[in-house]
Order: sequence, then structure tokens, then C-alpha cells
Amino acid sequence: MARNFLFPQVEGLLHGGDYNPEQWLDRPDILEKDIKLMKEAGINTVTMGVFSWAVHEPTEGNISFDWLEPIMNRLYDNGIYTILATPTGARPAWLDEKYPSAMRCDDMGVRNHHGVRHNHCMQSPEFRQKVQIIDTALAKKFANHPGLLMWHISNELGGYCYCDTCKKKFQEWLADRYDHDINKLNKAWWTTFWSHTFNSFDQIEPPYANGENCVLGLNLDWKRYNTWSATDFMKFEIMTLRSAGAKEPTTTNYMEWFYDYDYRYMSQFIDVISWDNYPESHNNWQSDADHMLERSFNHALFRSLKPDKPFMMMESAPGVVNWRPYNKYRRPGMHKLISMQAVAAGSDTVQYFQIRKSRGSSEQWHGAVIDHIGTNDTRIFKEVASLGQDLKKISEIAGTMADNKVAILYDWDNRWAIDDAWALAKDTKNYDKTCLEVYKEFMSLGVEPDIVGSNDDWSKYKIICAPMLYVLQDGIGDKIALFVEEGGQFLSTYFTGYVNKDLLSNLGGFPGQGLDKVFGLRSEEIDTLYPEDKVTIKIIDKAGLAPHSINVYDYQEMLRDVSADVLAKYNDDYLAGTPAITRNEFGKGHAYYVACRTNQSDLEFLYREMLDHTGIVYSKLPTGVEKHTRYSDDSAYDFYLNCGDDHATIKKIDGEDIISNAEIHGSLKLDKYEIAIIKH
Ligand SMILES: [Zn+2]
Repeated sequence: MARNFLFPQVEGLLHGGDYNPEQWLDRPDILEKDIKLMKEAGINTVTMGVFSWAVHEPTEGNISFDWLEPIMNRLYDNGIYTILATPTGARPAWLDEKYPSAMRCDDMGVRNHHGVRHNHCMQSPEFRQKVQIIDTALAKKFANHPGLLMWHISNELGGYCYCDTCKKKFQEWLADRYDHDINKLNKAWWTTFWSHTFNSFDQIEPPYANGENCVLGLNLDWKRYNTWSATDFMKFEIMTLRSAGAKEPTTTNYMEWFYDYDYRYMSQFIDVISWDNYPESHNNWQSDADHMLERSFNHALFRSLKPDKPFMMMESAPGVVNWRPYNKYRRPGMHKLISMQAVAAGSDTVQYFQIRKSRGSSEQWHGAVIDHIGTNDTRIFKEVASLGQDLKKISEIAGTMADNKVAILYDWDNRWAIDDAWALAKDTKNYDKTCLEVYKEFMSLGVEPDIVGSNDDWSKYKIICAPMLYVLQDGIGDKIALFVEEGGQFLSTYFTGYVNKDLLSNLGGFPGQGLDKVFGLRSEEIDTLYPEDKVTIKIIDKAGLAPHSINVYDYQEMLRDVSADVLAKYNDDYLAGTPAITRNEFGKGHAYYVACRTNQSDLEFLYREMLDHTGIVYSKLPTGVEKHTRYSDDSAYDFYLNCGDDHATIKKIDGEDIISNAEIHGSLKLDKYEIAIIKH
């Protein structure tokens, strides 16, 4: 695959992070020392200005970048590029004092007081006016600066505002969505139930904590509206920069498993995907290897949002974070493992929050490249510098691309709808976790999946797994049917195809939109199990395995009208002898249905069978080892990461490790946390 460079002017990968020199303007000696230390650590980029509004504009209209320009120039002279942020993540006191509409209202409709960050009303006209002024000034000053790499829009956009302006915007958004026809909305939301019928759009309120929360269509549309609103704000900032002459690419930093907004929608409007990766390493509820796989899932999600280019790991913590309930320092070697995992999964950057530790306030104990001691001989600094050397060594990775043939279908609408559905059990819905478990199972076989949405292009994939696809978007039934007909392997599970995009139940049987024909079955009941319930299913001969029983957890569906091949049957209670796992030949492909929740590792035979059908090469990896591959035109780079606690041996390796420069033919031995990148 052809390389696609994010920043052609930079040689190799980016290494750097958030730098807040505005906190040290009275200490020129420190600023001077920082540049020396950054160079020593192999840092070639910084992100500045994320929270600098009060320094840029200390009083209304009094804007000056005299503090920033010489720093940016000096960094550039020293080979360090700048990613420049718009400062809208936090507001100066003068702004909130004079324009209180900039402050967000909470879910009771009560206006916040001034303070903290990430709490602006995205629709406040007064706030937008001030944003436009500062963003225009920034772009006019710094666009086309040779040291400027890209624009970083605001910071970690998130949350909902329940003010009157937002209520009005929500009503307008709904009117557009439902063609200004209130009856259309009433039908979609099924408002006849409990006398919830609306006469006009201006009667509709956001789902206040002390207001309406039982109309599920309202709840879902509120989340969709907020995705639109945040995107609208982000686009407003981008347009402002562009109108003032900025030509550099844009990004906004996303967050892991982020729930508030549908990132797939937002991503259409930015140039590069970036996200902030904060592992909770060495925690007390899972192994490091399992925790790393969660990171890996997130990397795959962000990579897949713009599959035609590398993404950026915009933030990560050197050493430690300070905002979790427990904050454990990364053990030696873990920093490199986390950083290299990002690169393995498709990031062209390793960036941190933060380069230098704050001296005071809430981020003073958050990990940084340069600690309060200020020297180059701390453990963390040495690990960062060592990584900097390695990143230089593997600079040929920059611009290489993933090329995966397996995907997991994961929609925000589906996440929201499952959590909000008055169905299943409150505590065991676990949609995210279920998708993660499927991802893990493929990873254990050395096959990395992408994470795609219903409306994405599926043409490159041979296998798609859609666990718990409760919400069927318009046209998705035909899309799945075509995918399978043309030879695709498609797997779904219990709780699939129950409702349409408005959350109205599909009539005529589940899964709807004709998927009953694709799977060769219908689902009639879904039973919720208590944790103590003991239920098993028997895998039978047709699965190519000796008959044996496996455990079922949480959910079991009763199937009917089954014409598909039965691979497993229920053993217990009133479901005994009825189908539990099926495979339906449909056109040139197969549609698998798993009607109950099991350990994914017990379903390895299904994943192997699907891979066998498609000819995708796979091989079981040692426990704790991850494999990711990136491609250039003429080479493949297999990253092997040992995330486990013990050493591991991977067999049948043939190529050169571009970290150690060793030729490996045969077995590759990796110590705990060790990484190899095999070029072949
Ligand atoms: Zn608002």
C-alpha cells in the first residue's frame, strides 16, 4: 500500500506533547532548559495554546501573541514543530463575567458558575462571537508559519448543555429532522403511549433530570442533536480559522470509549483523527495484557474513523496520571510498550500530556517528560528519551497503513439505544464489552479487526461481526444480505435487529429488515439470567468438534423457524434441545447467529471457521502477545508486543527486526513488555 504521510515536512514519526510555556514566562532559564531537554529526548513537536486564552487576551479585546511567537520561533529553529490549539477549552474570567450565556446549564437547566473547563455552551451567540475574534487573531498571526504543523480545535469536546438557547436549537433540529411535521415525530417516538403526544415542536424539552426521560426516541435524538451541536461548534472554529487564512490540517482530540457524541459523524469534518490515550496500567481487576487489548480496541476504533491515513495519539501520560481513583506509576518498560502499541495500531505520533509538570493546581502531579526536579536523569525522562531514539530508528514506519479484512460493527446509536432500552438486565447489558471480547478473540489468532459503522464502506472486508446489533439503520438489512450473498462471513448474536433507527420494534419477527432470511431463523424470546443461573449449551458435530458443553451467561434467546444448520443446542430447562448457535449458507457466504452469551474463547471454532472460509492467514499467538501489521508499497511490518507478565516465543518468523536490526528466521523470543517490528 502506498504510504500516506500526515506531515510531509517532518521526517519520520512525531514525538512530543502538550507544552505550557505560558506558566513559566517569568522563568526564561526554564524555557531555555526545556528546549535542550526536549532535543535530548528526541522530541520534534509540541502542542501549545490549549488553555491559553487568558494569556492571549487578558482583558476583553486586548489580544497579543507576543509571548508565544518568540517561543514558537525558537522551537522551530531547534527542529521542533508546533501544533497550535484554539483556546476554547477554558474561558477567561472576564468572558463569563460579561457574557454569562457562555456558561453551560446542567441537566436541571441551572447555569453553572465560572470555573474549571470544557463547560461552555456551544450554541451561545456571545461565546461564539468571542471565539471568532480570538481564533481569527490566532490564524492571522500564525497561519503559514513554517513551524506550524496543524490546528488543534478546542480540547476534548464533550458534554451537553440544557440552557434555553440549546433547547431552542434542539427544537429546530427536530423540526428539520421530522420535516416540520409534528405528527411524524409523534409516530417515530410512539408518543401515544402515556399521553405523551406533542402539538408542536416548541413543546419539546431536552430530557431534563427532573423532566421527561421515558420517551426513548427523545433520549436518542437528544444525543444525536448534541453530536450535531458539538460538530457545529467545531466546524464554526474550523471555518473561522480558514476564513482568516489558515491552510494547515485540523484535528480535535478524541477520548477513549467516548459516549457523548457519535465520533463517526464528527470525523467527516476534520482532516486527521487524534485521541488521548490514558491506560490504567497495573490495575487490580485485570491483567496488563487484557488492559492493553482495551487500548488496542480503541486504537482500532480511531484508526477506522479515517482508514485512508494514519491517526495521532495526541496525548498519553509519561509515568502517571493524577485523576483516577488510584494512580499507579508505569512500571519500567510499560511506557515504551504503550507508545509502540499506538504506532503498531496505526498512529504516526507518540504525544504526551505534558512536556513539563505544572508547579501548582490540579495538574501539578500529572506525569510529564520533565519533572519538578528538572533533570535529564529521572527514570521517566530516560524512558522517554530511549523511546525517542527508537522512534527515530523506525522512522520508515511513518505513512504506512493497516490493511485489515475483518471488522467489528460498532454504532453509537446502538450503544445509546441498548443502554436506554427497558430490556435485558440493568447491570449486564455490556455492549462495549461484548464487542471488545470479539475483538480480543480475533487478536488472539493474530488477526487484527477494524471497527466499522453501519454506514461505512465494507467492500474491503471478508468477515464482519456485529454483536448485539439491536438498532438496524435504514437499508442495513439489504447491505448485510448483499455482503453475505457475495461471499462474506457475517456473525451476529442475541438482541439483533429488534428495532429500527427510531427505536420502533421491527414487526414480523426479529431480526428485522429481511435478516431472518439471511440467518435462516427468527428470535421469539430473550431470557435474562441471574449470575447464579447455571445454563449450558452443547456444541454438536456439525461444528467440526467433538460434542461438548459450554457455559452460558446473562442472556439466552429462544429461536424459531430455524432453517439454518444448528451448531449448538441448549441443554437446560424449557429451551432444552432447541438451537443456540447456527450457520446459514446464504449466496456465496455464511451468516452465523449466536443466540446466547458465552465466553468468546469457547467460540474460537467459529472464528477459525470463518477465517478458513475466507483464506485469511491466522495463527494462535502466545497469551499476552499482540500482533499488528502496517504496510508500505513493498514491505509489511509485523509488530509483536509482549503485553504479558512472562517471556513469550512466537514461531515461524521470517524477517528483520528493525528495532534490534537482528535477522530472525524461526522463533522470536520476547521478554516481558518487549517489542519487535519484523519487516518482510
Ligand atoms: Zn446551551
